[in-house]
Amino acid sequence: MLDFLKNRELNGNHLFFKLFNDMSDLVYLTKVGEDQSLSYELANESAMEFSGLTVESFGKPLQEVLPEKVFKVIEGEYQEAMAKGEPITYEDSVEAPPGFKHYKSSANQHVYWESQITPIFDKAGNCSYLLAVVRDITERKQKEDELKRANDRFELVWNSVADVMYIFDENERFTKVNKSFEKLLGWTEKEILLDDSISIIPEGSQEDLSRIVAEVKKGKVIPSYETQRITKDGKIVDVLASYSPIYDLNGGWDGTVAVYKDISERKQYETELKKLALQDPLTGLPNRTALYQRIEVEMKRAKATHQMLAVFFLDIDKFKEVNDTMGHDIGDELLREFAHRVKGCIRKNDLLARLGGDEFVILMNELNDKQEAIHIAERILLSLQTTWKTQNLERKISASIGISFFTDYNQEVKSLLKQADVALYKAKEKGRNNFQVYG
Ligand code: GH3
Ligand code: MG
Repeated sequence: MLDFLKNRELNGNHLFFKLFNDMSDLVYLTKVGEDQSLSYELANESAMEFSGLTVESFGKPLQEVLPEKVFKVIEGEYQEAMAKGEPITYEDSVEAPPGFKHYKSSANQHVYWESQITPIFDKAGNCSYLLAVVRDITERKQKEDELKRANDRFELVWNSVADVMYIFDENERFTKVNKSFEKLLGWTEKEILLDDSISIIPEGSQEDLSRIVAEVKKGKVIPSYETQRITKDGKIVDVLASYSPIYDLNGGWDGTVAVYKDISERKQYETELKKLALQDPLTGLPNRTALYQRIEVEMKRAKATHQMLAVFFLDIDKFKEVNDTMGHDIGDELLREFAHRVKGCIRKNDLLARLGGDEFVILMNELNDKQEAIHIAERILLSLQTTWKTQNLERKISASIGISFFTDYNQEVKSLLKQADVALYKAKEKGRNNFQVYG
């Protein structure tokens, strides 16, 4: 069958040879002798040039025409193909000879080859020929490498950003989550991708995620907004969430990428600040601002439910003297103790606030009658009578109290407080250590 190929000179113009030689693949036909010896029967121009073969190389044992190292590799592959009895494919990389014209890749580069070795059997079932087709796959390899490098770079960025990032599909199913997701929300990518029942939205949340997804599908970017998420351990975290669409190569919607910035720390700080803004630092009691906010609320409520409120203005008697004789630090300690004692006399829902200096205010709600408030005033004065001991120094402390009642529902906050202040002034005038009711 292959006889016509043997006279290469004669058949040089044969169409088969033209096609054969024009191929950029390297093609080798190797004869397997009865003694298993290997010799080239035929090779196209690319193969001859690449392997440095001449017309004289044909028919000679392969080990005579190839460098020993190359022969060993080829022999190994041929043996494997013969043993398997079917085509084998393998990839390797070699340097092509300089100036090799069929070389697709640029010069002096590593060339990646993909070789397919096909054993050909005679009627008796012996392998008589081996056909090797060797293809330059450098370009493909380079593209694969580039893609891999781009992918590696993306993964690196994806997993090193501090913000939580994840991608979900049209069914709102997670398709990819980054390392920060695992760090903040506790779920690993594997867990979240496998279990559809996992939710990171806190129960009872009013957030309408379906509406957000619908907007993103229309191509909208949802700018960051404050919301909350729940971790694997059930902890609520405050986040700034934003959503953007991802497009496929044809410009079609291909998912949504969500980004969460963890703002728990900032939120905590804000809460702390708010608390501080409403708190008296010395006693830890609500301050003037907190008192005013609360009075407004309680006045509205009392008006609506027709209940009575009472406001007590308390001022420690001769407190300047305490400071002057015992020192400011002890004065501070006594102020804290004063707050503690008064707190012990009022009801759970009554509010004790420090306005500043030695001035305190009590706001009482849900009073059944004025007498109830008067009892509390008496109790306070009594509780102050127990000797005050600080750093082994003993001292008598008393206070004066002015009381006003909120019964005229048209009255303003300021006027109610003013009336209590007027009553306090009267108590001071009456010799201190007593309470007076306005009016
Ligand atoms: P009165 O019986 O008329 O109330 O006499 P008083 O000496 O208590 O006079 P007043 O209430 O006007 O003065 C309050 C004093 O409280 C003034 C100041 O020396 C002291 N004071 C104000 N703020 C603080 C504080 O934060 N710490 C301490 N230790 N003393 C304070
Ligand atoms: Mg005072």
